[in-house]
Amino acid sequence: MFLPSGVYGLFVDGQYIESVSGETFDVIDPSMGFAVAQVAKGGAEDIDRAVKAARSSFESGVWSRVSPKERASVLDNIAKKIMEYAEQMALLEVQSSGATIRRVMSSDIMLVVDLFLQMANFTRDFPHKEPLAAIPLPGPSHNFVIREPVGVCGAISPWNFPLILGCWKIAPGLAMGNSMVVKPASYTPLSTLLMGQICKEAGLPDGVLNIVPGPGSTAGETLASHPDVDKIAFTGSTVVGRRIMQLAAGTIKKVTLELGGKSPNIILEDADLDIAVPGSCFAFLLHNGQVCESGTRLLVPQKLHDEVVERMCHVIGRLKVGNPLDLETDLGPVISAQQLETVLSYIEAGKQDGAKLMVGGKRIRPEGFEEGYYVEPTVFTNVNNDMRIAKEEIFGPVLSVIPYKDLDDALRIANDTIYGLAGGVWTKDPKKGLEVARAIKAGTVWINDWHLLRNDAPFGGYKQSGIGRELGHFGLEEYTQVKHIHQSMVQDRQRRFWYDRIVTLKE
Ligand code: NAD
Repeated sequence: MFLPSGVYGLFVDGQYIESVSGETFDVIDPSMGFAVAQVAKGGAEDIDRAVKAARSSFESGVWSRVSPKERASVLDNIAKKIMEYAEQMALLEVQSSGATIRRVMSSDIMLVVDLFLQMANFTRDFPHKEPLAAIPLPGPSHNFVIREPVGVCGAISPWNFPLILGCWKIAPGLAMGNSMVVKPASYTPLSTLLMGQICKEAGLPDGVLNIVPGPGSTAGETLASHPDVDKIAFTGSTVVGRRIMQLAAGTIKKVTLELGGKSPNIILEDADLDIAVPGSCFAFLLHNGQVCESGTRLLVPQKLHDEVVERMCHVIGRLKVGNPLDLETDLGPVISAQQLETVLSYIEAGKQDGAKLMVGGKRIRPEGFEEGYYVEPTVFTNVNNDMRIAKEEIFGPVLSVIPYKDLDDALRIANDTIYGLAGGVWTKDPKKGLEVARAIKAGTVWINDWHLLRNDAPFGGYKQSGIGRELGHFGLEEYTQVKHIHQSMVQDRQRRFWYDRIVTLKE
């Protein structure tokens, strides 16, 4: 991955290379606040170079025309290679994203390994060719539907789960025979860059996967508007997602968008609080709330309000915030100095708007990590759904507790949002749980749980949380073109009576 200069290179056409401009940028360890790596800074010309490599590999057929079985075996190899590189991968992820090593080693790496294995299996079983029913009219014919790769797919990923969310695009894109250009977020390009080496060692032909870190305003915009890119898959904020759609519109690219969220988490009166209380902490605190589907609006019946809040504050008070490389650490830093400022400014907004701060609310400087971007896990009560802390995505460890009167009131509040990524309900009554799950307008709903996503289940948003789905066979569909082929079996011109509808064709 390293160039002779010690800089991480762009991965283009199977090689790590410098950027055309020769410029680099720093990757900061958010737990320390200082640079831990330098990365070649991709710009418009680098994206262009990567798109050319992807196009040439695609048209050559080295990957796009190999059998699904062969592609699946390379995906299996990629999964094995990720296991071999697990420690290095985890370290890169922790150092750049601030994730805890405990989570990355026990969850993220395993999820990504499983993703490639699942995509390999799906590829083997995918209906690459489906015959249609034979109908005698207007004349006998064979009709079938085939799936083809889309072509060159651009992928733009965010910083919160760089490895997982990058691979949510790479794995299905490759599985279906596409060539790809990936632009990871500038805060966290390292683990995605390592995927280049891993895929190459696993047998992926050069040029099929290209990785170009660089600013969204140059590299990202060039990729999203590039005339030779057929599809763009984006995960990030709703604001940038809107811009991606505009850029992609120029050449009518296929677009999938995974955007922001403000997920409602509803505790019903009959909930088992021994599960619902820690579960609701888990829902809003995983990765410091920097998760698109975090349960950041907690809807609690008036009757349980004080007990739930008191028990949650007790759990939160015992969390260990600090060094993400320490296995004992529960919460690491937020991603950047800017994100820290954003979170603190939302906390101020909550106070100004009349919410009551129950716990947290301040920056922390853990010993030895004084310059890191740490903030206390924070709970506000007395929140109403019109306050900024309840309406806007904070992307930090801040919970808004909103009391409700009855179930109708809870559902009204839950769905009163521009987002629709996820939601959850806690109840001992399975029937009631399903009723609420159906009523929440979101792409994923958990009953008595949170964050448990599966590589074989679709993930994506209603409303302004996105378009399309990732994961499962739904996700694979997004990386295919559908072609109907009609093969006529009518050999005789006289029997082709339908030609005669256009008189001029008569001889
Ligand atoms: P972001 O929108 O700022 O950036 C995401 C990516 O887009 C980065 O790679 C960035 O460089 C690039 N980018 C920025 N401006 C661009 C432009 N004008 N043209 C092209 N590319 C551009 O998001 P972020 O801050 O990295 O991530 C946090 C956001 O992502 C949150 O809103 C979160 O909810 C969302 N998110 C959604 C999901 C999901 O699956 N729905 C998952 C994770 C994160």
